[in-house]
Amino acid sequence: MLNKIDHIGVAVKSLEESTKFYKMMGVEPYHFEEVESQKVKVAFIKVGDTNIELLEPTSDDSPVAKFIEKKGEGIHHICYDVASVPEALSTLKDEGLRLIDEEPKPGAHGKMVAFVHPKSVCGVLTELSQDAH
Ligand code: ZN
Repeated sequence: MLNKIDHIGVAVKSLEESTKFYKMMGVEPYHFEEVESQKVKVAFIKVGDTNIELLEPTSDDSPVAKFIEKKGEGIHHICYDVASVPEALSTLKDEGLRLIDEEPKPGAHGKMVAFVHPKSVCGVLTELSQDAH
């Protein structure tokens, strides 16, 4: 069901500050967006075939703000591309895994996404993402 890693999400305090490293290395962010459902602003960076999603919270009650408060900046989630998020969710639910989202919701790039609780995936917050068709 997992087609590929869609992106790696990194929680940051400031997109401006965190993109400096990439710019120094000759990589410019190619996409900026505000994702209201997550209360974040994101910047996407492409390194080879791999996308990095930098996430800056837009509100103190953003899940990313809470993550930074608890753990500091750092890797926040891994996102896998799947053919169907609802199908993947129903499989995981049947197996008794802990879901954060029971239903897909709008994510960056107009994709439908859902999060699986880290307790169910080796301690890693896991996002499932489906291309918008
Ligand atoms: Zn993500």
